[in-house]
Amino acid sequence: MSQLANKVALVTGGSRGIGAAIAKRLAADGASVAITYAKDASAASAVVKAIELDGGRAIAIQADAADVGAVKGAVEKTFATFGRLDVLVNNAGTAIPKTFEETTLEEMDRVIDINVRGTLAATQAALKYMKSGGRIIMTGSAVGERVLTPGLVAYSATKGAVKMFAQGLSREVGSRGITVNNVQPGPIDTDLNPAAGDWAVPQKAATALDRYGHVEEVAALVAFVAGPESSYITGANLTVDGGMNA
Ligand code: NDP
Repeated sequence: MSQLANKVALVTGGSRGIGAAIAKRLAADGASVAITYAKDASAASAVVKAIELDGGRAIAIQADAADVGAVKGAVEKTFATFGRLDVLVNNAGTAIPKTFEETTLEEMDRVIDINVRGTLAATQAALKYMKSGGRIIMTGSAVGERVLTPGLVAYSATKGAVKMFAQGLSREVGSRGITVNNVQPGPIDTDLNPAAGDWAVPQKAATALDRYGHVEEVAALVAFVAGPESSYITGANLTVDGGMNA
C-alpha cells in the first residue's frame, strides 16, 4: 500500500471535491502532500488534519490558480517543506455554466486563467524540481473530448486545451523520465457539479452506468497514474466517466 513512500505530491485545488479525495488517497499511498486552495481555509485545514490523523504528512497553501506568482510560490513552498517534488496534480478548476452567448468575456477569462493558465504556470514551476520518475497529472474532463450538454462551451474549450497540453508536454519531458497524463472525469458529485443539481439530469442520463461518479473513483485512477506501475503511460487521456463518452 505504500507505493508512494518517500514521494512528495502537490495537488492544486485540494481542499474540496475531487482534489481533496486525490490528496487523501496519495497520502494513504505514502506520499507527503501539499494542497492549494483559493478561499476556503477551513476546508483545506480539515483535509490536512484528516491526513495527519491517518499518520500522513500534509500542508495547505493558499494560492489562487489565476495568480501566477501565488502558484509559483506554492510549488516553491512544497519543495522547501518536503525537500523534493515527485507528483503534480493540476486539479484546480472551475466552470461557469451558461450558454456561450450569455457568457461574458470576463467570465471566459476567469475560466481560462484558472483551468489553463494556472495549469501551465504550476507545471512550469514544478518541472524545475522534478526528477526522473516524476508525474504531471491533469484533472481534465470528459467534455474535453465530447460535449453532450449545452452550457459548457468555454469550460470544455479549456479542458480540450489541457488535453493537448498534456499530449504536447509528454513529448518534451519524456527523455527526462517524467510522464504527463490527463485524467478525464465524467460527472462526479461535488460542490461544482452536484448530483442533485439542475444540470445533473442530462449528465446522469448520458452515462452508461446511469449514475454520477464518486470522488474516490477519480482519486483511484490518479493514484495509479502517480504510482510506479504506470511507468509506460504518458501523453494519455484516461477517462473515468461511467461510460459517458462511450
Ligand atoms: P469543487 O468546486 O468541488 O472543488 C474545487 C477545488 O478547487 C476546491 O478545493 C477549491 O478551493 C479549489 N479552487 C477553486 N478555484 C480555485 C482557484 N482559483 N485557485 C485554487 N484553487 C481553487 O470542484 P471539483 O472537485 O468538482 O473539480 C475539481 C476539478 O475536476 C476541476 O478541474 C474540474 O474542472 C474537474 N472536473 C470536475 C468534474 C465534476 O463533475 N465534478 C467533471 C470533470 C472534471 P476553494 O474552496 O478554496 O476555492
